[in-house]
Amino acid sequence: MEPSIFSKIITGSIPASFIARRDLWVAFLDINPRAEGHTLVVPVEQKQRIRDLSTESQRSLIEGVSEVSSKLCSHFNIEDCSIVVHDGPAAGQEIPHVHIHIIPRSKGDGGKSLLAMFPDVPNPGVIEPNFSELAELAKTLYLD
Ligand code: AMP
Repeated sequence: MEPSIFSKIITGSIPASFIARRDLWVAFLDINPRAEGHTLVVPVEQKQRIRDLSTESQRSLIEGVSEVSSKLCSHFNIEDCSIVVHDGPAAGQEIPHVHIHIIPRSKGDGGKSLLAMFPDVPNPGVIEPNFSELAELAKTLYLD
């Protein structure tokens, strides 16, 4: 497998501004920050989607997200972050190596929420939720 840009960053052949290096994940600043401190948490294991990662990498990655978001919040004196994953190309992924965006957020920063990703879907409260359809779908998706 051809190493991804992020694998090249991890092995040091491409530079990056690291804020953490651990055995199973690293974190470095995004070169096109959506807000100051926008960080990518990246598993060392090169896989395109979260479900392809080993269980060990998955668990470690979420610890990384927690550790990095705590650091960003204390550093920028904020409470909140947007934590975003484009898990595959149809979901907006540009680099085929799992990465979790952590973007510091504060009130009135101009950033949007999940609702902005689907502007054509009516906002909550505009139409009644279709509970029977949701229940049917949940039945077919249920993980035994
Ligand atoms: P995504 O659209 O979720 O695949 O996001 C890819 C992200 O990687 C974008 O936010 C890019 O700005 C960022 N990115 C691309 N190349 C680099 C790089 N060499 N160092 C840091 N971030 C990068």
